[in-house]
This record gives sequence, C-alpha cells and structure tokens, in this order.
Amino acid sequence: MPELPEVETVRRGLAPALIGAQLVFVDQRRPDLRFPFPENFVARLTGRRVEALGRRAKYLLADLDDAQVLVMHLGMSGSFRIEDESAAPRGDLGPFKRKDTAHDHVEFRLSTGKRIIYNDPRRFGFMQIIPRKTLFEHPLFRNVGIEPLGNELDGAALARLFAGKAAPLKAALLDQTLIAGLGNIYVSEALHRAGLSPRRAAGSLARKDGKPTERAHVLARVIRDVLEEAVAAGGSSLRDHRQADGALGYFQHSFRVYDREGAACPRAGCGGTVKRVVQSGRASFFCGSCQR
Ligand SMILES: [Zn+2]
Repeated sequence: MPELPEVETVRRGLAPALIGAQLVFVDQRRPDLRFPFPENFVARLTGRRVEALGRRAKYLLADLDDAQVLVMHLGMSGSFRIEDESAAPRGDLGPFKRKDTAHDHVEFRLSTGKRIIYNDPRRFGFMQIIPRKTLFEHPLFRNVGIEPLGNELDGAALARLFAGKAAPLKAALLDQTLIAGLGNIYVSEALHRAGLSPRRAAGSLARKDGKPTERAHVLARVIRDVLEEAVAAGGSSLRDHRQADGALGYFQHSFRVYDREGAACPRAGCGGTVKRVVQSGRASFFCGSCQR
C-alpha cells in the first residue's frame, strides 16, 4: 500500500503535466472502483482547468477552475502514468502488449496533448468531487491528523497528541486521526533511527507537565528525515508503486529494519538483531538491543 512518500512522489510527478492544463476529454471505463464514481463524473470534469495539485494525508487534491476539488486516492495498487498523445496506444504494440492496460480505469486527455491514465488492478482506489469550500468538513478529511511533512510536526506536537496514552508508540504513530499518512514502513524506520521501541507507551514522550521529552524532539525530527529522504528517492517500490513517469522508487534499498527480520542491526556498535513482532495485527520490525 502506498504510504505518504509514495503519494507525494506521484503528486510531484503529475503536477507539471496537470497544473494549468484543461481536461478536454475524460474516459471513465467502469462505474466504480472501491466506491462508485460520483454522479456525472465525466460531465463535471470535462472542460475544467486544473489550477493546483495538492495533497492531504494520502489524498491527491486537484483544484479545478469551478471551485471543486477532484480528490483521488490510490488505494492498495493505484498508479498514474503520463503518456503523450502521439505515442502509440499500448494495446497496439503487438507482442509487447501490456496485460495491465486491462486495469486502466480512467483516462484524462489534456489540452497539452498529454494523457494521464489511472490504473488500479485491485481497485481499492477511489475518486470524489468535493467543493473546495467544504473540503475539510467532508467525512474523508474531518478527522485527519496533522501533516508529518508540514510544519505542524515537532516534539511539542507529539507530546500534545500522545500525553496520557498507554497505547504502544507504534499504534499511536499509525493512528491517522493523530498524524496523517504514516504507515508501517516509515514508522518502523523512524523508530529505529530514534532508538525507541515500538512497544514503549506513547505517553512516555510527554513529561508530567505535558512538555515534550528529549525523545519526542528526536522522534519528530527523524520522522521528517525519513519521509523527506523517501520522497527524494521516489518512494519505496515494494509491490505496485511507480512514479508517474514509470520509474521505480528506490527507498526500499535504504530500509534499516523494515522487512529485515534476522539481519544485523545497522546501528554502529549495536550488535543486535532485527526482530519481528506482531502488534495489533501489523508486523513491527525493530532491534531489541538499541531501541528502548
Ligand atoms: Zn540495534
């Protein structure tokens, strides 16, 4: 499942093609993905110009020139690719015919001649059209936590969000109503960098007076570091993630603990081994020696 860095990578790949372009033709090839498409989806988008392409949590937000926002979620296996109109349709390439064009569900043809195609084999993705004015009151966004890549995440924010919580730190970090877009991979990586056990109580990052501990400052910093490095690497390509130009992300080669059970801890001088435990149904990877 794409996490925040993968979605941000897709946003940065699509932005130059999409911003300022008009949607001259929209081809919707099925009635639904995870949910039905909005009513009159094609008619509401055709002729609209895209003014901006933002992101909130794992949602891509295309601001349209009629004050509506096209909201797009990649689900488990969604991806976008950009093609030039002049390029031969993939289906016509004979022996090189790509099987996965069967999962091309939406195509946006742009005034610039480019085409943006949404492909999603498992169809857990979805699209919505929501008025900009009420976007953040919509049920999709009402309870979404702070942005870990924005300026909101610091030690004080972690202390405020986690104070008094007996839940494991890992679970609190994955709670999307507290922090938006963090998933299993980047939480595992950040906790290793911070030297914090995923099993430690979340509330231990706040002092009795509610002020952040030194550990809270460190954790906030490494979360941002990990996410920024992952975005710079084009995200992590584990199953389906590709950037919009088709390139793979390569942050998976930088994993210190995620999916590395049994490997030596990469921290200099530690000598520990990466362990795997299951916490609330999700695998946690960590070093029992240097993560406390
Ligand atoms: Zn270690």
